[in-house]
Amino acid sequence: MPLRTANIIGSGPNGLAAAITLAQAGVAVTVYERNQQIGGACSTAEVTLPGFHHDLGSSVYPLGICSPFFRSLPLGQHGLRWIEPDAPLAHPFDDGTALTLEHSLDATAAQLDPHDARTWRALLAPTVRDWPKIIDDIMQPLLGLPSHPAAMANFGLAAALPAQALARNVFRGEQTRALFAGCAAHSVLPLTRVASSATGLVLAAAAHATGWPIVAGGAQALTEALAGYLLSLGGRIVTQTEIRHLDELDAADTTLFDTSSTALARIAGTALSSSFRTRLRHFRRGPGIFKVDWALREPIPWSAAACRRSATVHLGGSLSEIARSEHGAFYGRSYDRPFVLLVQPSLFDPTRAPAGQHTAWAYCHVPSGSNLDRTEAIERQVERFAPGFRDIVLARRSSNSEALEAWNPNLAGGDVSGGAMTLSGMLTRPTAKLYRTSHPKLYLCSSSTPPGGGVHGMCGHLAALAALADHV
Ligand SMILES: Cc1cc2nc3c(=O)[nH]c(=O)nc-3n(C[C@H](O)[C@H](O)[C@H](O)COP(=O)(O)OP(=O)(O)OC[C@H]3O[C@@H](n4cnc5c(N)ncnc54)[C@H](O)[C@@H]3O)c2cc1C
Repeated sequence: MPLRTANIIGSGPNGLAAAITLAQAGVAVTVYERNQQIGGACSTAEVTLPGFHHDLGSSVYPLGICSPFFRSLPLGQHGLRWIEPDAPLAHPFDDGTALTLEHSLDATAAQLDPHDARTWRALLAPTVRDWPKIIDDIMQPLLGLPSHPAAMANFGLAAALPAQALARNVFRGEQTRALFAGCAAHSVLPLTRVASSATGLVLAAAAHATGWPIVAGGAQALTEALAGYLLSLGGRIVTQTEIRHLDELDAADTTLFDTSSTALARIAGTALSSSFRTRLRHFRRGPGIFKVDWALREPIPWSAAACRRSATVHLGGSLSEIARSEHGAFYGRSYDRPFVLLVQPSLFDPTRAPAGQHTAWAYCHVPSGSNLDRTEAIERQVERFAPGFRDIVLARRSSNSEALEAWNPNLAGGDVSGGAMTLSGMLTRPTAKLYRTSHPKLYLCSSSTPPGGGVHGMCGHLAALAALADHV
């Protein structure tokens, strides 16, 4: 029987993407969100001082702008405007210089020594050239056959390598190695793990192919564009309604969970087989994060002027320092010098703060569930590359794993990826039959399904397509 009605639990980008896909197919959809504000880790609020608008989760969207699903939607008509900073990424060093990942492959290579310049081009040019084909394939479950086998084979050879080994073997300069390591650290994996290069290559190629944009007005504007389009299709969104048990939902032909795998097990309970619940319980979490949001009197006083050209700044010095930090977070240790991902959106979007003032946030990876206060360690890293930073802080808010999970239970133990992004974790995530559970009416559609973490909506879109295909 074709689907006529559907419930979606959770209004993150994947919940909204699932709802839109179903509504486009004529299904009557209701989205339930526990918080007052929709969007999950794609939302914005004033959490320090009045007039300072902070992205509570994501801010930078290399996968959002090239998501095949987002690209198919009229989001511009619902207020979405991407802003592309001058350079996608800056990576400062202790000598006061910085490397930038530029939009142009050549401009990036021009900063490197001749050997590394040649290698950077050789490593990334084929992926940048084949980007439209590659992005279509990596935004799908890895288990499926690629639609572009030649392009994917080329990309896959380097992507399969551990990032530390790749960086050490192909680059000679310590700074080039560090630039690549910072991109690979977005995998939230030890850089010695197989396939930890994949994320680094995808993000570096995305910088050259489509950029690392932020959204005018903040992450919430992307969520509101998705929600606005959903409402225009007749969808409903109900906020401040936490679903604790299936009985709390109105009867519907199907229910999609934009939740963590443990929440799916808890909410669906014995509607799921005990072996499937065991599978969900055993799905490995990734490390957590510790995040600080700042209201700033003025722009961050970077020693390297190049850091003002990018919304995203990686603070980790060398490859070995970044590798040690990421290894520690994965295996349960914290170091004095964590690898810090910092975002300074107000440099490119004046709506984020009162005139002349700024917002920024930064996080470091921490062991899953760690509640250690990392504010001091993070600010020390910023101060290292921007002396005087602490003097411009007007207000700050620190969030440990517990606080993040209390705000959004999908961030279980502080995990921002919906489960460890190991190769085995990425193949099917916890649902062996992609997106499907042991119950024919229940589906998982959050970032705990392929293609995994990030704001791109593909998990929700593909889960909804699976539900539609199962009910014809
Ligand atoms: C600090 C931080 C920074 C990040 N930075 C980036 C970035 O720059 N770029 C990027 O691409 N990605 C980034 N990410 C990751 C990205 O935000 C997530 O991968 C993405 O939001 C996942 O979307 P989702 O829909 O699966 O889940 P979520 O966005 O987590 O949304 C899930 C929603 O479901 C709701 N919910 C859960 N359980 C229930 C229930 N029982 N009843 C009702 N509602 C429920 C939650 O309240 C939440 O609103 C970041 C994440 C964080 C936390």
